Amino acid sequence: MARHYSIAIDGPAGAGKSTVAKIVAKKLNFEYIDTGAMYRAYTLKVLQNNLDPKNQNEVKSLLDSTDIYFIDNHIYLDGEMVDDEIRDNRISDNVSYIASIKEVRSKMVSLQRKMAERKSVVMDGRDITTVVLPKADYKFYVTASVEERGNRRYLELINKGVKNITLQSVIDDIRRRDEIDSTREESPLTRTEDSVLIDTTELSIEETVDMIIDLVKGGE
Ligand code: C5P
Repeated sequence: MARHYSIAIDGPAGAGKSTVAKIVAKKLNFEYIDTGAMYRAYTLKVLQNNLDPKNQNEVKSLLDSTDIYFIDNHIYLDGEMVDDEIRDNRISDNVSYIASIKEVRSKMVSLQRKMAERKSVVMDGRDITTVVLPKADYKFYVTASVEERGNRRYLELINKGVKNITLQSVIDDIRRRDEIDSTREESPLTRTEDSVLIDTTELSIEETVDMIIDLVKGGE
């Protein structure tokens, strides 16, 4: 059986991880796994069932009956494609509470590890270098200033036709998520010593992709 490779990318919201990871995966013919999308899909399920995202027992109650998987880079929740629904503001507002629950994380981590066993992957998220794939072949921590990350997310939302948002509200949301993601008890976002730090504040998507590809190719 051919050896499978793994590239793990962590970093805060809006740093450009998923855009970059998707392109890197395509160039290397690896599978891209957006672990944030999985936490978002579970959040969608919690909200669809009118449960309280801050009530851990309610949130946990759906875990055994939930199926989350990817087909051709599309995310499916219990058999239904939910690519668009999981990007809704209501999901962004609640996902960090749900992602801080230990049992939710165990389920997602086990699904993610199984995905990485089957194929060469580029996986991005908050705990990939630390918990999901600590022995990944290549590890990166991709970040940018909070203002730049807010600005990118704001432009993305405006281009999608989202109304009633301000740049400041988007920056505030990112700051709030950063705070929850990096101070939570379960698998907080941190940079491991062996992760290559890439600050994309002044970098284009292409430049960031090239840095990663160069490092991966150089290490072959
Ligand atoms: O990557 P994205 O911003 O879509 O992730 C949404 C949220 O999911 C994050 O703010 C974080 O709370 C959670 N998450 C996580 N662990 C991951 C990926 C995402 O806790 N590996």
